[in-house]
Amino acid sequence: MTTFRKIALATVGVLAAALAALAWTFSASDLVPDATDYGPLPAAHPPAGMSLSALPTGRIESKAGFAFRGGSMSEERDFAMTAVLVRHPRGDLMFDTGMSAHLDEHLSSVPWLMRKLSVRHLDKPAAAVLKDNGYDPKQLAGIVPTHAHWDHVGGIADLPGIPVWLNAVEQHFIAEGGFPTELARRVQPFPVRSYAFDDKPYLGFPRSLDLWGDGSIVLVPAPGHTPGSILAFVTLPSGARYVLLGDLVWQTDGITRPAERPWLSRSMVDEDADAVRRAITHVAALHRRFPDLVLLPAHDARAMGKLPVFPEQAR
Ligand SMILES: [Zn+2]
Repeated sequence: MTTFRKIALATVGVLAAALAALAWTFSASDLVPDATDYGPLPAAHPPAGMSLSALPTGRIESKAGFAFRGGSMSEERDFAMTAVLVRHPRGDLMFDTGMSAHLDEHLSSVPWLMRKLSVRHLDKPAAAVLKDNGYDPKQLAGIVPTHAHWDHVGGIADLPGIPVWLNAVEQHFIAEGGFPTELARRVQPFPVRSYAFDDKPYLGFPRSLDLWGDGSIVLVPAPGHTPGSILAFVTLPSGARYVLLGDLVWQTDGITRPAERPWLSRSMVDEDADAVRRAITHVAALHRRFPDLVLLPAHDARAMGKLPVFPEQAR
């Protein structure tokens, strides 16, 4: 065999092995919910007049296979870009902002590969939905991003002057986080309402913040996807309980299987994949124990699609 032929064969072999390794990273590899007993659901006293509704701002077409290990690459999944409005007599809060009216300018904040692998549809920015329904954005006590990635904070640009609630860790990530928080820096300046967690455990999370003091909206730190990522537990007067998961997982399957994102997605978006994995097994354990707890990954269009759409209000 000539030297050239040997080199060619070796190259083909290396490429085939690399492709096989890449394919393996998308294969099913389910996690195991952790076995800890997190106790009963904490008490909550949501006041009359409290509600939760969705502000769908658009969607991104992608594949299940990019969202969780074992997902099919032939299965289309819409990734919702939905803000969630939680109305409360002490102050209305918008969790995440969805896509902005300035989407085209903001897309430079999206990793190149993600831009290439998906098709985006902008419906209507959250600020416009509020305005068109006679809701003055000044009624908002704040915007609460689950984390500071572009698709969660872009709409801040459409809501000038509204305080953005951020913990110190995520504020630091915005300042020092490089490319992943480029848009969060670009939409500055915005008023920041800095919050800190209390040393009060909540469903196994060591710290929590009971926003209005009645147990109806409780934030917990869930670092990993970004260092200051949070989950928000919301309880309505009906007794319905929700957990806003941000980007802990992109589709509900991530909790119900449970399964993490495949390596390619993790490497593009997760700051600490081990911490994400631990948080997934934690929430998966809660899901098994409390199957009525409604899981709301920020980008799961089917889960978000079951919520009442603003201005219709769930009581
Ligand atoms: Zn994210």
